[in-house]
Amino acid sequence: MGLMRGRGFSYNPGTMSDKKIESVVIVGSGPAGWTAAIYAARANLRPLVIPGRAKGKDLLPGGQLMLTTEVENYPGFPKGVLGPEMMQLFFEQALRFGTRVVTDEGIKTGAELSTGLYTPFPDVAAVDLSGRPFKVKADSGFECQAQALIIATGAKANWLGLPNEMRLALAGGGVSACAVCDGALPMYRGQELGVVGGGDSAIEEATYLTKFASKVHLIHRRDQLRASKIMQERALKNPKIQPQWNKTVVDVLGEEKISGVRMRDTVSGKESELKLGGLFMAIGHTPITEFLNGQLELNEKGYIKLQDPFRSTTSVEGVFAAGDVADSVYRQAITASGMGCKAAIDAERWLAEQGVE
Ligand code: NAP
Repeated sequence: MGLMRGRGFSYNPGTMSDKKIESVVIVGSGPAGWTAAIYAARANLRPLVIPGRAKGKDLLPGGQLMLTTEVENYPGFPKGVLGPEMMQLFFEQALRFGTRVVTDEGIKTGAELSTGLYTPFPDVAAVDLSGRPFKVKADSGFECQAQALIIATGAKANWLGLPNEMRLALAGGGVSACAVCDGALPMYRGQELGVVGGGDSAIEEATYLTKFASKVHLIHRRDQLRASKIMQERALKNPKIQPQWNKTVVDVLGEEKISGVRMRDTVSGKESELKLGGLFMAIGHTPITEFLNGQLELNEKGYIKLQDPFRSTTSVEGVFAAGDVADSVYRQAITASGMGCKAAIDAERWLAEQGVE
């Protein structure tokens, strides 16, 4: 993939030259971003985090965990923890060690951030990676320069875009975009569940959900799956998986909790209803990389390409990546945290090599 250097970045050189150069700027505020901040802060790098703005209802500061209810698979929380609560804890832990955060009103630290993750934060708008220090611009007008940059902007799960789908997802009403995160919750046990999609994720999630569900309806818009043949065969042999071929979901039914879906047949156009106790979207993820404007090498799936799979280095020296923006495979809070830790350590060592404190 061809790289473009700093295209589309315009900043005010007059004000920029007056600004202090940051050691480490972290973009993103999910588990990867806050873990990177905790490690960088404890290394006395005084990291600056640009958390990201709430956009509609599907992208929030704190990342995808803000859309999750109970998190039961993150070690250290034997009784589980709510996704938003967990991100607030990450945030407070990062602040405790001196992490600074860019809000719509400028840079703030610990005590000034009493509204927590619900503070209005800006989104990163553009970066210029053509020379060091790197230049970073937020959509609030905030600009800074950074010796090292950690990209932890995540990937957003794709949703169908139906109003009732998002309403129930936000209310913990049985609509989710992550079966591994939510599928084991008591509310789904013994229920008939639906999974939307026909790729490997849909098959994997449908198979996973058969452990808890009485039946899993695999709702796919075509009559052929996109998933790998071996996974298809395994899933279609599973007596608990019921394919719903050539169907799209046109509405999600239920007030406080999902009661079913209305589907449309993509061949006949006929509509029908299916009773469900839960619905899981598995229609792909989109990594958040637009602001990079082609300046970092991406892999064939559009995720940031790590130069060494065990590290966080990217195609630009001094720029590190962590979490789902560089991981199309695992996409878990714990793996994102681990990557954030690696990115902070890589950045710290790289800065030391450059003689930057
Ligand atoms: P994917 O392969 O892009 O599949 C997305 C599925 O969602 C497709 O079947 C697609 O239908 C459907 N879809 C997309 N938009 C839709 C919409 N608006 N309405 C209804 N259906 C829609 O995504 P993925 O399954 O998340 O996989 C992503 C990558 O990770 C893939 O490369 C996959 O191989 C890999 N992966 C691998 C494993 C594994 O090996 N264990 C597990 C998970 C993921 P169409 O088929 O009609 O386009």
